[in-house]
Formats: sequence, structure tokens, C-alpha cells
Amino acid sequence: MTMADQQTRKTGELTQAPETRELVATGQRRYVPNYAPKEMILDRGEGARMWDLDGNEYVDFGAGISVTSLGHGDPELAEALSAQASRLWHISNLYFAEPVVRLADELCEASFADRVFFCNSGAEANEAAIKLARKHASVHHGAEKNEIVTFQGGFHGRTIATVTATAQPKYHEGFGPLPEGFRYCDYNDVAALDAAIGERTCAVLVEPIQGEGGVVPAEDGFLAAVAERCRAHDALLMFDEIQSGLSRTGRLFAYQWEEGIVPDVVTIAKALGGGLPIGAMLAGAGASETLQPGSHGSTFGGNPIAAAVARVVLRKLRSDELLANVERQGERLRKRLAALHNEFGFIAEVRGKGLMLGAVLRDEWSGRAGELGEVCRRHGVLVLQAGPDVVRFLPPLNITDAELDDGMDRFADAVREAAKAEQGTEIG
Ligand SMILES: *Cc1c(COP(=O)(O)O)cnc(C)c1O
Repeated sequence: MTMADQQTRKTGELTQAPETRELVATGQRRYVPNYAPKEMILDRGEGARMWDLDGNEYVDFGAGISVTSLGHGDPELAEALSAQASRLWHISNLYFAEPVVRLADELCEASFADRVFFCNSGAEANEAAIKLARKHASVHHGAEKNEIVTFQGGFHGRTIATVTATAQPKYHEGFGPLPEGFRYCDYNDVAALDAAIGERTCAVLVEPIQGEGGVVPAEDGFLAAVAERCRAHDALLMFDEIQSGLSRTGRLFAYQWEEGIVPDVVTIAKALGGGLPIGAMLAGAGASETLQPGSHGSTFGGNPIAAAVARVVLRKLRSDELLANVERQGERLRKRLAALHNEFGFIAEVRGKGLMLGAVLRDEWSGRAGELGEVCRRHGVLVLQAGPDVVRFLPPLNITDAELDDGMDRFADAVREAAKAEQGTEIG
């Protein structure tokens, strides 16, 4: 740790050079204002640490929102990327390329799936799933069987169809008319599901742990009940594992925490490319023949460079060593949160599994997740929020003891400062 950084940690003040201020101002002026990026320029990363242009160091507990699960600057990923970069970048889906074929095979070998559709993002993977579900029902049962059941608080993406699948009004406002054929019901509520599902249902799309919706896990037995209802109504069982999948919770897929479930479709993206854009829809035997030639496609989907990197990502994320680290660091993070809670009493509950954790703020702290995140940043640790009341932790899955401890020390400094502000000793 540099002297400047020690200083930063103590005061919670970041240094900012003129170049940073100029870049931030240009970004604020030139980006469509749909985001509100923090006023810093991230420049470099190594493992679970990042540095901004001014040399301020951050411990990364967000992993680019569950994307950089192997941290920053992994030499094996960089090697796979540059090897493929000097061979072939793009071929279109008129042809095969080795890394893409191998990745498809390895994803199937690792999962319930027997076929894969590649795309570039989570929303596109869910779009493919929605189209597959409708096509499958129209071929096997008729065109009236076209409804997709999703859950309140869920998140499935920002395209017009996936935002409609996302049962949260705040994401819909002003974007109508939205496509028909989506039905929402309460999460973890089997009776509500029974009321929503029927002969018109072609699929149920569900996150095993709701991420954006506040890190809300499916209760024991809920996913099994969903699976059972899907079978009973000839509806496809589709898990959105875009955030929870690829070992984030300590198993390859979060649905595997519940015994005996075999999905029809699982969508993944985020962590698959280690930071490169790639998504995939995995389909099991009953549904995998549905999308026949001409029915669906993507120009960039199955990009050879992304696939070459994803093969290494998948191998590393599946290793016993990594899965053990997720469990170990998840427990350590929970212990640190519990100790901090004893001191400051700010947490109502810690939800989630493995390294997908949400600290739900207590009533006295409600609405302060964003503010606490900003104080954290000034103290050199990047955390996420999931709504106004949940501080979300999605650190790299290979995070070390030292990185986690350092990040939690910084988090403690931030909570201490925020607690002072709450007691009326207003800061700044
Ligand atoms: C992030 C996310 C998506 C959307 O992925 P994009 O790559 O942003 O399109 C969909 N579902 C879940 C559960 C997600 O967390």
C-alpha cells in the first residue's frame, strides 16, 4: 500500500487530477444519461484490486456485477485471448470455429444441456429462451399456449421482451406498448403460481436467487414446486442463472442447491466471458431441437475470441479449489458482517449463498444503500446495491483471504463514518 493510499483510507478522501475531472466531464456530457457513473476513471486491475487514473486503490467487491469472477488480469485468460486474437476474430454463424465448438461441448458436458445457443449478453440469452418457449409450444401444443410466467422482483434484461418479463414497473415506465403474454406472480409463493399457471403457459422463467431484486433466494422447496407445476402443465422450466450461475453460489448453477431438478433451459452470460461479452442459452433434450434453421440468430453470437476465453473461464470456475474458495470466503464475509453488525447494528439480515450476498439494512438505515456505497468508494472498496435497502457483495470468486480482509477493513471504516452521519454528526 502506498503512502497516498494510506492517507486516502484514513480520511475517506480521494485525490483527483485534472485529467480525471476532464474525462468525467466529457463522459457526463457525451454518454446518453441512462447511467450515473461514479466520478472516477478506472484504469487498471489485478486480482480483486483496481486502481483509478489518480492511483487510488480499490478492493473490488462488485466484479463488474458478477462478471469478472476470476478477478482482473488473469494471465491464463489474457493468454487465451491473445492466442485467439492472432488466429481469427470473427467468422459468422455460417461456419464452425474450434473454440466455439469446444465451448458448446464443454458446457453440455458440465450441465443438463445437450445443445447451446450463443449470444452476446444476458438479455439476448433470455430473448432466445422466450422465443424457444413460444416456438416449442406452437409446434407441440398450438399457438394459444404462449404465456410465460415470471416473478415479482425478478430481473431478466432491458430489451423490450426481457424488460416485460421483468415484473418491476419501474423498468417499464414510458416504454409501452409492451408485448403480450407475460404473467407475473409473487416469488416464493406456490399458491400464487398455481393461480397464474395454466394450459396457456408455455414456460416459467425464474431466477434461483433474485439478484437485482434484492438478493432474494428461492425458499427450500420452491424451485421443486415450480418444476413440478411446469411438468403438470407442459410448460418449459427455464432458470435465469445469468447472475447466480457459473459457481457464484458455490455450485455451478444455483438451482442445483435443490435436489432432483432437471431444467429445460438455463440462461447464462455475465461471468462466462471473464469480462468479454458472451451469453448462452443451454437447452435440455426435450427442447433443444426447437430452433430449426432460420428461426433465430445473432451475428456476433459465438464469437471465437470470447469463446476461447470462456473455455478457460469455465474450466477454472468448475474446479474444486475454486468452489471451496467460494464457500470459505462466503463464510468469512458473513462473519465479518456479523461482527460489524454487533458494533453498529445496521443489518436486518444477510441473504444469499456463497459469494452472492446481500446485507439488508435495518429500518433506521433504510434507503441508505446508495449513500453507503459512495462512502465505501471513498474508503477504497467498491460494493453494489440491490435496491435502496440492500448492500450487495459479488466479489471475484478467487478472492484471497488478504483481499477480502482488506476490503472488509475498508468497509468497516465506511460503516463507521456512515454511522456517525446517522447520529447527527453530519459529515461534509
Ligand atoms: C444482468 C442480468 C440480466 C441481463 O444481462 P445483460 O447482459 O445486462 O443483458 C438478466 N438476468 C439476470 C438475472 C441478470 O442479473
